[in-house]
Amino acid sequence: MMKELVRSAVAAGCRASGLLARREAQLRSGLTILCYHRVLPAVEKAAYFIPDLVVTPEAFEAHCAVLARRFHLLPLREAFDAWSRRTKTDKPIAVITFDDGYRDNALLAVPVLAKHGLRATFFVVADLAGIEAPPWYDQAGRAVQVLRSQGRGVAPDGTILDAPGPSASPREVVAAAKKRAPRDRAALTARLVAAVGDALAFSENDRIMTWDQLRTVHRQGHEIGSHSASHEILPLLDDEALRAEVCGSKRTLEEGLDAAVDTFCYPNGDYDARTLRLAGEAGYQCAVTTHRGSNKEHGAAPYELKRWFIHEGRLAGPGGAASPSQLRLELTGLADKAFARETSRAVTS
Ligand SMILES: [Zn+2]
Repeated sequence: MMKELVRSAVAAGCRASGLLARREAQLRSGLTILCYHRVLPAVEKAAYFIPDLVVTPEAFEAHCAVLARRFHLLPLREAFDAWSRRTKTDKPIAVITFDDGYRDNALLAVPVLAKHGLRATFFVVADLAGIEAPPWYDQAGRAVQVLRSQGRGVAPDGTILDAPGPSASPREVVAAAKKRAPRDRAALTARLVAAVGDALAFSENDRIMTWDQLRTVHRQGHEIGSHSASHEILPLLDDEALRAEVCGSKRTLEEGLDAAVDTFCYPNGDYDARTLRLAGEAGYQCAVTTHRGSNKEHGAAPYELKRWFIHEGRLAGPGGAASPSQLRLELTGLADKAFARETSRAVTS
C-alpha cells in the first residue's frame, strides 16, 4: 500500500509540473513497444508460477484504454515501417506485443483489443503451435510447484529430494533447465511430471494457440511474428540448430498462415552476433529484445529493438486497480528514474 501511495504521489507531481506531458511529447519521434506475455483471470494468475508474466483482463482493458487515447497503435511491422520512414502521425507510435503465443492471448486478450479497435503483434513459438501439451517450461515449473506444496523439495538442478526441506523455486529450476541440452531437459521434465502424476492440471489457456486460432487472429488484422521454433536459448546453439530456430520457424509460420512473417523475438531476450546476422539473412524486417526503453533513433538497430516489460503490480494505483498515470510514467521512462529500477533487463520468458 505504501508503495502504491508513493507511486501515486510521484505521478501527481510529474503531471502537475508538466514533466509527464513534456516526456510524452518526446515520444513522438520514437517507437514505443510494450511487452506482455499472458492474460489470465486473477485466480489463474495467482496460481501461475511466474505471476509477473501475467496481467488480468481488467488490467489489460485499462491499459488498452490509456494506449488507445495516447498512442497510434500498430502491429510491429507496420509501426517499424512508419517510424523508419518518419511518417507523421497525430500521436506517438506504439506497439503491443505478446511473447510465446498462449491460447489465453486469443481467448482473453484479442476480445479486449477488438473492443478498443487495436491491433497487436503475437510472437509464437512455431513448433508448439497447435500442440496440446503445454510448453516444457510450464510443465516443469508447475510440477516443482506441486512437489513443494506436497512438502517435497527439489534441488536447483531438478533433482527431487527425498527429505522435506528447502527447495529451489519453480523459476530457479526452469532457469537452470533452459541451459541444458534438449534431451537432458526433456528427461528432467518427464521425471518431474511423473513424480506428481495426476496432481498436475492445466487449462485451455496454458497451451500455445492452435493453427485455427493463429489464422483467425491474423485475419483480424493482428501480426504473427516468430519467437523461434522451440524457445531454445539461441546463443547456446551451434550454427545449424540456430538456423533452424531463426529461419525454420519463419518457414513453419509462413506455411501455416499462408502469409509473410516479418518480425522476430529472441527467446529469453538472449542473442549474439550470429543471431543478429541470421535474423537479417532470414528476411525479418526487425526483431525485439527484452532491453527496456523507447527506441529513439529512427530505424537504428532494427534487430535490437527495446521494449517496456509490462508488470501489472507496478502499474497499480492505491486501490489495486491499474492506474493510467502509472502506465504513462512507465512508457516515458520516468518510472525507472523515479523508482531507481534496474533498467537493463526485464523478467523474461
Ligand atoms: Zn518467450
